[in-house]
Amino acid sequence: MSSPFRTASKLNPPPPDSAAQEPVPLLDLKRQTRLLEPRITAAMREVLDSGEFILGPAVVRLEERMARYCQCRYAVAVASGTDALRLTLSALGIGPGDEVITTPFSFVATAGTILRCGATPVFADIDPGSYNLDPDRIESAITSRTRAILPVHLYGQPADMDPIRDLATERGLRLIEDCAQAVGARYGGAVVGSLGDAGCLSFFPTKNLGAFGDAGMIVTGNADFGERLALLRNQGNRRKHRADVLGFNSRMDTLQAAILEVKLDSLEDWNSQRRAIARRYNRWLEETPVKTPPESRRGRHVYNVYTLRAPRRDQLANRLAGRGIGNAVYYPVPLHLQGAFSRLGHTPGSLPAAETASREVISLPIFPELTREQQRRVCEEIYDFYRN
Ligand SMILES: *Cc1c(COP(=O)(O)O)cnc(C)c1O
Repeated sequence: MSSPFRTASKLNPPPPDSAAQEPVPLLDLKRQTRLLEPRITAAMREVLDSGEFILGPAVVRLEERMARYCQCRYAVAVASGTDALRLTLSALGIGPGDEVITTPFSFVATAGTILRCGATPVFADIDPGSYNLDPDRIESAITSRTRAILPVHLYGQPADMDPIRDLATERGLRLIEDCAQAVGARYGGAVVGSLGDAGCLSFFPTKNLGAFGDAGMIVTGNADFGERLALLRNQGNRRKHRADVLGFNSRMDTLQAAILEVKLDSLEDWNSQRRAIARRYNRWLEETPVKTPPESRRGRHVYNVYTLRAPRRDQLANRLAGRGIGNAVYYPVPLHLQGAFSRLGHTPGSLPAAETASREVISLPIFPELTREQQRRVCEEIYDFYRN
């Protein structure tokens, strides 16, 4: 195995190079904040001066811009990505006795919100290449109780939506996209969130478009549905103190919307930078035994996370951590084997592709401001690990 890098060897120890030994964080939000600080401060000042802290004008503007960006007619700003899912399920009337088909390989909120609204998450296994819901495994999971399919665009890569959408249409099921990691990703030219009945976005700080706290949004092409969501997020009130339906308190802070408005201007550039970083990793890691993330020809992956399959994953993670290289495992235990889902009665071996992935994946530092030098360091350490 040859390395394109200057690597340490016993014969030729590397020259002491303090810059090269700086830790490389998994994610560094501080740089981005510093770069945008004058504009963000001005936007926040405007909110402070207005005194409209909840659902203020910036929230309305952000909804309009996000609806356009996601190629949807309507957008409803809410308090988090988890709430986007929860309100969507609720607005669709999904509850006790209903089943929703989803992936076992995701963040807890995906299936957690299904369970929380009283319905049953039915897990279909993943495609080991994309880590996304395998369309071929959905049909056999459909029963007379199935109400919806909830695919996740994991790590920023769109799920294979055409066959999933065909199935949903054919069987009269709702289609909800969990776009929390994939804002701006495209599938066959369409922006994710516009491919089903509703798209759920998260603006958690680590997502590709991140607030300074919690925030989320639902995008949809359906006016009635959008209106229902707007009611649900605000205590079911159409007018003050007249609750027409039983709702939630899930409003977006005006401050968060103002910050997100500034950041939205950069989102396309940031997503392109993430893609460029991913391409470089793919190239630089070609001659190692790791499996770099394959990108489907139909989709535009936006790399919220850059994930490898790596032999001796846990040792590699330890080595990288020991050398100051940030890394993480998303997700070390698939949802069907986590305690919160024990009532579903799954046992190890029931969803083998997800279980294998959870043992083999590891994610590397990726964020738009990651430098080429930092990336080189990450790759050098991976080379070193597999050489010895
Ligand atoms: C982040 C995330 C969520 C939840 O979003 P929050 O804003 O943290 O509530 C849901 N699903 C997936 C796949 C996520 O990554």
